[in-house]
Amino acid sequence: MKKSEIQIVWFKRDLRITDHKPIYEASKNSTPTLMLYIVETDYWSEPFANRRHWSFIHDSLVELSRDLNTINQKLIIQIGSVEKVFKDLSKKYKINYVFAHEESGNDWTFKRDIKVRSSFANSKINYKEFPANGVVRCLKDRNEWSKIRNFRMKENIIPTPNNIIPFKAINGSPIPPKTDNIFINNFRGKVQKGGRSQALKTINSFLQIRGKNYIYNISKPGKSENSCSRISPHLTWGTISSKEIINMTSIKINSLHEVERKIWKKNISALLSRLTWRCHFIQKLESQPSIEFKCMHPYYEGLREKQVNLKFYSAWKNGQTGYPFVDACMRFLNYNGWITFRMRAMLVSFASYDLWLDWRKIGYHLAQMFTDYEPGIHYSQLQMQSGVTGINTLRIYNPIKQSYDQDPNGEFIKKWVPELKNVPEAWIHEPWKMSLNTQKSSKCIIGKDYPHKIIVHSEAIKKAKSQFTKIMKKEGYNEKSKFIFTKLGSRRKKREVLPNKQLKLL
Ligand SMILES: Cc1cc2nc3c(=O)[nH]c(=O)nc-3n(C[C@H](O)[C@H](O)[C@H](O)COP(=O)(O)OP(=O)(O)OC[C@H]3O[C@@H](n4cnc5c(N)ncnc54)[C@H](O)[C@@H]3O)c2cc1C
Repeated sequence: MKKSEIQIVWFKRDLRITDHKPIYEASKNSTPTLMLYIVETDYWSEPFANRRHWSFIHDSLVELSRDLNTINQKLIIQIGSVEKVFKDLSKKYKINYVFAHEESGNDWTFKRDIKVRSSFANSKINYKEFPANGVVRCLKDRNEWSKIRNFRMKENIIPTPNNIIPFKAINGSPIPPKTDNIFINNFRGKVQKGGRSQALKTINSFLQIRGKNYIYNISKPGKSENSCSRISPHLTWGTISSKEIINMTSIKINSLHEVERKIWKKNISALLSRLTWRCHFIQKLESQPSIEFKCMHPYYEGLREKQVNLKFYSAWKNGQTGYPFVDACMRFLNYNGWITFRMRAMLVSFASYDLWLDWRKIGYHLAQMFTDYEPGIHYSQLQMQSGVTGINTLRIYNPIKQSYDQDPNGEFIKKWVPELKNVPEAWIHEPWKMSLNTQKSSKCIIGKDYPHKIIVHSEAIKKAKSQFTKIMKKEGYNEKSKFIFTKLGSRRKKREVLPNKQLKLL
């Protein structure tokens, strides 16, 4: 019997129907279209994956399914390996086309894509992939990147077609299935709500009210929770596109009178530059997928990974280092699935320079905790903040200075490290300086109720600096740095310097 012809829109990290090129392209053919999402079981047992991510995706799939119904389509969710799902579909149907977005994912998805492409080619299925954002596949010249990216961001928002021929003859659930048994890693605490309606609500509330103090509060861990856009998981899982956000910011700016415009312009341009960084960092992983596992600058291989101190790792991960601000930030992150940029950087800096933990070891815990886990940003930032890129200034955060700067009266610390809630403000940043009497009256004996500081910051940093200086002096170090810069470095001056002989104490 002749197989009936179909085409497929394969959703991955693009859980929306607006500004969605694969859907739009599918609408040009008069072939029944299957809207497909695959829960890839093996992916969910990888060390970077966490049920927290799935929770967000689950919400988003529920809404995607509803939104597809409005254009007379049905979302079909299958469970298993992509290869098997497509193989089974091919047994029943003649698949003419598969439409999808390019995914700049991690090694796992990269390898899956290679296999999928070759199996599509063998089965004579036309596989059409489209850029998902400003990241350029097979970029030839890094100097050309921002031109291409900016051009893409100025393109019109792609409309949602409503003339796609629906595909009806398949059994499959439009509702995300219960997949409890596939999650190895779990979380305790909250997770941001996913879904297109939440994406719009989040960005609208930011552009209407919350973003007014964006720049001012961006590094304050408590206040940034409300003042930052909080759009990151939506961008990660694609319930909204960067282009849509950029478009909304120009509508906002154009709607304002002069005085208001002045206030908002600073905040909006800060947001826009971060959206550029987003593509910039993901481009690094796209251009060099090995950065998930290997230091950008090869001279840093072996620097820390042989000396993993599991006691330090566990104290860092659980917010038990004895540095109140570090512990408060980690506990906040573990509970909320999000923390602002500067605090992410400080947590990595503390783990890397103070505790001498390798970025690969700490990266998995952070990936699991971040609802917005985006491999391109994640691995680039981990490497940058731990000093192994060879093209960035070394940024070493002083956890005590950060504590005084970002949480002067210790409010945030007291909320997230309740053992310290009765400690007087004068000691909250350095509780180890309290006399025994003050410890007793604060009901917080250091070493019993709250840990002794795990390491002396100034001593640890001295050692770290000398290790870095040794490596930077090695023959051939600068040549390697230049090569890395040519391939991956930002062309904006000052952001990335060459080579990384500069040091910034923050
Ligand atoms: C070690 C480390 C790991 C990180 N891992 C991730 C990750 O897995 N996923 C992720 O989305 N961000 C990551 N970031 C970047 C940044 O911390 C988050 O994007 C930001 O805190 C998200 O909150 P927001 O949406 O309120 O950001 P806003 O400040 O409101 O910024 C708007 C958007 O710009 C992008 N953005 C902001 N800062 C950066 C940055 N420094 N680099 C690249 N893009 C940026 C994000 O998409 C963000 O949603 C990481 C930073 C560090 C230091």
